[in-house]
Amino acid sequence: VTAPSPPRTSTLDELPFTLTAEALAERGQARIASAERALAALADAPAPPTLATFLEPLDRLLTSVRDLSAHGGLLFAVHPEEPVRASGRSTSEAADRFFNAFRLNGAIYAKLGALRTGPLDPATRFAIEKMRREMRRAGVEHDAPARARLLELSNAIDATSNEFTENIARSRRFVELDGPDRLAGLPDDYRRSHGPGPEGRIRISTDYPDFRPAMTYADDAELRRRLLLEFTRRAYPENEAVLARLLALRQEFATLLGYPSYAAYALEDKMIETPERAAAFLERVSALVHAPAQADLARLLERKRKDLPGAPAIENGDLGLFAEGYYAAKIKSEEFGVDPKRLRAYLPYAPVRDALFALCQELFGLAIRPVQDAALWHPSIEAYDVTAGERAIGRFYLDMVPREGKYNHAACFGVREGLLGGNLPQSALVCNFIDPASDPATARLEYTDVVTFFHEFGHLLHALLSGHGRWLYNSQSSIEWDFVEAPSQLFEEWARDPATVRRFARDPDTGEALPETLLERMRGAEAFGRASRWARQVALAAASLDLYGPPTNGHSPHAVLLAAYARHAPLPLDDAYHFEASWGHLTGYSAFYYTYVWSMVIARDLLSPFETAGRLDDRAIAERYAREILAPGSERPAAELVKAYLGREFQFDAFERWVRAPALVPRARPAPASPATPGPL
Ligand SMILES: [Zn+2]
Repeated sequence: VTAPSPPRTSTLDELPFTLTAEALAERGQARIASAERALAALADAPAPPTLATFLEPLDRLLTSVRDLSAHGGLLFAVHPEEPVRASGRSTSEAADRFFNAFRLNGAIYAKLGALRTGPLDPATRFAIEKMRREMRRAGVEHDAPARARLLELSNAIDATSNEFTENIARSRRFVELDGPDRLAGLPDDYRRSHGPGPEGRIRISTDYPDFRPAMTYADDAELRRRLLLEFTRRAYPENEAVLARLLALRQEFATLLGYPSYAAYALEDKMIETPERAAAFLERVSALVHAPAQADLARLLERKRKDLPGAPAIENGDLGLFAEGYYAAKIKSEEFGVDPKRLRAYLPYAPVRDALFALCQELFGLAIRPVQDAALWHPSIEAYDVTAGERAIGRFYLDMVPREGKYNHAACFGVREGLLGGNLPQSALVCNFIDPASDPATARLEYTDVVTFFHEFGHLLHALLSGHGRWLYNSQSSIEWDFVEAPSQLFEEWARDPATVRRFARDPDTGEALPETLLERMRGAEAFGRASRWARQVALAAASLDLYGPPTNGHSPHAVLLAAYARHAPLPLDDAYHFEASWGHLTGYSAFYYTYVWSMVIARDLLSPFETAGRLDDRAIAERYAREILAPGSERPAAELVKAYLGREFQFDAFERWVRAPALVPRARPAPASPATPGPL
């Protein structure tokens, strides 16, 4: 007889976000010590293992350490005080060391094997299988000397990954300008928030709210060229040696386990299974997008020559690389009637956020309400509780403003795992959308930020809706990692849907809503540059696979990245760029950056029922999607979830049609701006 479990809440237990560095370290150590004692007791228990006496306590103690790792990892990424970030990092590394040792625990492994899995439900059986596979892949079946070395390597890989990550967060670079006229072409709100400093000079940083608009709008080609150079040299040169060390550690780890490469090791438990299949998949996509990407480039050069007759070529500074490019924005404005700068005026942060919340209510029946009394890590953070009718779903946090030392990309961080009978799931979106110099109440987003917001929210919905299963190894965090970008890339589609954009795009200064005709033009222009974007994703994916492939005969990571770009991207990278030094995915995603491309193939097919219905706000399809894809977490292999939702296996065709679709020029060219006819957007 078990005691009735307490109601599930979004508690942080003894680890609030407000602990000092010392208190965090102490409480982290205490939690790990208690988990180690409990694990030893389970390993030594003489009675045959059962779900109630073995698997449940094991799952709960692993969850408590996983939560500690997530908590420490979040504070490492976001806390404004350096000592707390450092304590977060060491706490999360200590938790990861616990997991590395757990995976090599032969007594626990044997007990998991002795659990009678015959009469168990399939989700439980699958969770046990995955735990045992994870332990085998860590080396639990190897002899004692090999296990000792594998443990050292795992710990060193975690610490080296964190060192790489920390160097990126610390590396913030600037371009200095001698006067406001160098900001010609940039939006008014941007120019207002980038006034000259005490010495009359203007500083533009590599943070996204500075970087992206400058790359898209600045007429000054020299500014774009210099800023992109600074952006691609973040964490350079310090991370070159760190990356070389990380690659070598992972190669040794894979070799000891009998794999030809770390890529072979890392892909074995993914949907795609082998580096050979991943490489063939990337070649297939590369062949699809190569010609249209080259056509995009020719079109950009033609446009550039209107301004600069005889210009020899498009440069990376014209492309933006990781932002919408300058000439692409010109073409969108002039040929498609979609000016991203005018669009920005209609995209204040708060209404975009509120419309996204309202959309979740309509699609999935989720109510999202602010938490009033939460103690958070910075005054700019927002906390929200999510419910579905009477049922509590979980809690999330939004951290949207760049800060010194903060993680400077965009990601959804796990905060607490959700388990039936245990804690509710909690996640945090860590983004860098809002210019810290502007008032958050009126801060404007780039349209690409809105797409990123929806993307990360897709991850968040997956984490919250799946956090109600019985076992840690059935949660979303245990799903195949080449599936994880499918729910996020799918959710981006709502940010591109005219019916959805109409809800939030409104200029708060004038009250004017985004005109309908311009919504249609946006939809038409959306395909412009798509092939180039995916050619770049293929280049990065090929680089990530090659970097972790068999040792590269002395080729530096820099050379590998340049070679992949030269082969697949529309334009080679400049030798002066060292993006490999700030490419954060090389730690967590390692060899499987191809995930973005593979998941997009799945996401395009997941959209097909909505496309058949002719609308994205079809409640019945949305609910089926939430029920079959999001809520099950990893109770079954991802391919089975997709099959349950689609009623068939997923196919490549939808992606192929989409990635090659031409942009649609509007029926009539936009009329020049006048009070009666809004100008290009
Ligand atoms: Zn993502």
